[in-house]
Amino acid sequence: MSITLEERHGAHNYHPLPVVLSHGEGAWVTDVDGRRYLDLLAGYSALNFGHRHPRLVEAAKRQLDRLTLTSRAFHSDQLGEFCAELAALSEKDAVLPMNTGAEAVETGVKLARRWGYRVKGVAADRARIIVFANNFHGRTTTIVGFSTDPVARDGYGPFTPGFDVVGYGDLDALRAALTPETVAVLLEPVQGEAGVIVPPGGWLRGVRELCDEHGILMVADEIQSGLARTGRTFACDHEDVVPDVYLLGKALGGGILPLSAVVADRAVMDVFTPGSHGSTFGGNPLAAAVGREVVAMLATGDWQERATALGAHLDAALHALESPHVKEIRTRGPWAGVTLTADAPDARLVCERLAADGVLCKEAHGDTLRLAPPLVATPEELSVAVEALGRALG
Ligand SMILES: *Cc1c(COP(=O)(O)O)cnc(C)c1O
Repeated sequence: MSITLEERHGAHNYHPLPVVLSHGEGAWVTDVDGRRYLDLLAGYSALNFGHRHPRLVEAAKRQLDRLTLTSRAFHSDQLGEFCAELAALSEKDAVLPMNTGAEAVETGVKLARRWGYRVKGVAADRARIIVFANNFHGRTTTIVGFSTDPVARDGYGPFTPGFDVVGYGDLDALRAALTPETVAVLLEPVQGEAGVIVPPGGWLRGVRELCDEHGILMVADEIQSGLARTGRTFACDHEDVVPDVYLLGKALGGGILPLSAVVADRAVMDVFTPGSHGSTFGGNPLAAAVGREVVAMLATGDWQERATALGAHLDAALHALESPHVKEIRTRGPWAGVTLTADAPDARLVCERLAADGVLCKEAHGDTLRLAPPLVATPEELSVAVEALGRALG
């Protein structure tokens, strides 16, 4: 019924697996017929803490009974605390809350351009931002304009100018693309939608050095890679790199509501002045209360440690599969891209078989499976899921 109604009355901008979910708890979801599935997608990492984590649900319920929305015309007793606590977690000074990830990216683009004009001294309307091939930063017209994925772009032009695309992980290409008008480098420290692509060791550090040399902002889109997904608070931490700007989203809302943020140093953030940017819902007290609980959970380091252990287990289990249909396995924490060989079953078919076997995941680009279990999953559950993957690969 639900699938038919969605087909008939919903836009067809997705191609979901044929499961209709009605309940979720921890790493598990249940469909309308009572079948249970292990969720290995975790809402594209928006559900890092699993479904309905009791601490997050409690924080939301507490706030629902007090105050949900003020707009930014007034202060709330949650927003300042949220900003201070997220800034402390990120070791930065200033936070600008938005809602979706794409809005955080748009905000980062505006921030970098204004900083370029007002601080770096680039001539009006000349600022350029370097991005990378196979990036995924969201779905607005500006963002798809600098995507290299024809499926995401086709039919949506004309696009916003001012972006240069270079190869991901290629430091020489980045160096060659820098101009006096370059104001920022916008990167994913691990490319998620591209299939969990981990850059060559030292690349992030090299980008940091180039940005320092040339007086350019390093903007890290950690919307999917951040907040313990890779075993560290930020994926940049793996190379001890501190970007000038973090873009956060997905898990920041605890899997309950959309909450994103731009986090930067005060000197950079202060290019925004009253009226120059905003959002009706951004930083609303309900989202801020949930975000505060997420930050409090991450502040102890326990989730990051748990993710590291889970990641080692997942990596070992995937390699132990020794399937002839697996071409490459890439992991960073409990986040894996499994690229299939040309003669393997189609990645979509593998996902359908996995669903029939009680495991939910989703293909990434083309021939890659992307696994991102919620961090509440147990090692045993991951073993069971990887065994199911072995069966699904045939
Ligand atoms: C999901 C994602 C976004 C966009 O987030 P939305 O909330 O879907 O707008 C941006 N950047 C990265 C790296 C993402 O994974």
